[in-house]
Amino acid sequence: MADSTLKVPENVPGKWYIDENCIACDSCMSIAPDHFAMVEDGSHAHVIKQPETPEEEQACADAKASCPVDAIGDDGE
Ligand code: SF4
Repeated sequence: MADSTLKVPENVPGKWYIDENCIACDSCMSIAPDHFAMVEDGSHAHVIKQPETPEEEQACADAKASCPVDAIGDDGE
């Protein structure tokens, strides 16, 4: 389970976030590219847009389920 106290600083504010356990595997951004992207140095991903519709929530949930290290959380503020 992702840890909301370990959010990477590049996440946009909101309930969805990526934490410091991300291993930059590309899975989330290939599934939901409107919401997840790599930071400039390629060290980890971050949330670039919070979901606003049920379809976007589902895309983020699918990305979360695909994360091999459980680094995606939806229990932020
Ligand atoms: S799927 Fe998980 S480990 Fe892979 S880039 Fe996304 S947050 Fe990082």
